[in-house]
Amino acid sequence: MLQDQFNRRFSYLRLSLTESCNFRCSYCLPDGNECSSRAEELTLPEIKRLVTAFALCGTRKIRLTGGEPSLRRDLCDIIATCKAVPGIEQVAMTTNGYRLKRDIQSWLDAGLDALNVSVDSLDPATFALVTGQDRLPDILEGIDLASSLGIKKLKLNTVLLRQHNAGELPDFMAFVKQRAVTLRFIELMQTGDNNAFFARQHLSGDSIKQQLLAAGWLLGVKDAHAGPAQEFFHPQHQGGIGLIMPYSKDFCADCNRLRVSSLGELYLCLFTEQHRSLRHLLAQDDPEAVRQFLQHSLLFKSSSHALAEQKTGATRHLAMIGG
Ligand code: SAM
Ligand code: SF4
Repeated sequence: MLQDQFNRRFSYLRLSLTESCNFRCSYCLPDGNECSSRAEELTLPEIKRLVTAFALCGTRKIRLTGGEPSLRRDLCDIIATCKAVPGIEQVAMTTNGYRLKRDIQSWLDAGLDALNVSVDSLDPATFALVTGQDRLPDILEGIDLASSLGIKKLKLNTVLLRQHNAGELPDFMAFVKQRAVTLRFIELMQTGDNNAFFARQHLSGDSIKQQLLAAGWLLGVKDAHAGPAQEFFHPQHQGGIGLIMPYSKDFCADCNRLRVSSLGELYLCLFTEQHRSLRHLLAQDDPEAVRQFLQHSLLFKSSSHALAEQKTGATRHLAMIGG
């Protein structure tokens, strides 16, 4: 199992399949993405070698992300390839939901176990304003379809925004009353490109936590390798609510994930200057070389990000490495 000098163990890989995206989320890619890197994206054989090597090092869960992963034409082959690697127990994906209704059945057929869909507002006009895409009803239908088709784990990701969705908490709570989905509130993170937006829109996760507790939500107990989210449950709600608060104390103490960009760069953290290409190691079947690379790289993983000091590292926007 990969481990760093702070005894954190890494069993979870977030693999970005593309930097391209068809949405223009105001906190991420307000001007869209020009797709200049598409020709350079990791190929299916490279992905297979990468995932095989990570699995040999103890990785059990892969999350496919981006940019927008569903823009990859070979997405189903990628899901099936990851799923077939010995040791990989769960293949998950994060998507903006644009292709959810059309493609969920084929993703499930390929072996997808878990899905996170980003939904920043339950109000169609606000959703369109934040994402640049007037598609909320279609995405909500896709979410209901995914549930009815029996996907094992389904979560909604909502980035907390002071102006746009801070007042929607009662609507979000009502949404998970009858639906067995987990809603994830993610505190807005500052990146190289979103400084002015961040200053206007950052809303502390703690204010949401206090509102949840006041509304009768209870904080669950985490298991040892659960990752950084705080999970809440409510006796009268089928669904749950998670809070990801990257600015909270000790957030990084539970870090269990590594990231590889669509160009084959290993990122030890979302907000680091430290990233190194391992693509040259994927030209042939040589998992031992990848293992050595990973173990050596992990010696340099910091104990914590430095977001509180506005140090966002090399990350211009989270579409580079998948959030
Ligand atoms: N395009 C897909 C999507 O939006 O779900 C996957 C990639 S996106 C970068 C992954 C997650 O990161 C999304 O839930 C998105 O809302 C979140 N995200 C992007 N930029 C963020 C930021 N600056 N702060 C917090 N979350 C962010
Ligand atoms: Fe695209 Fe996801 Fe970034 Fe929105 S958050 S612009 S959907 S990559």
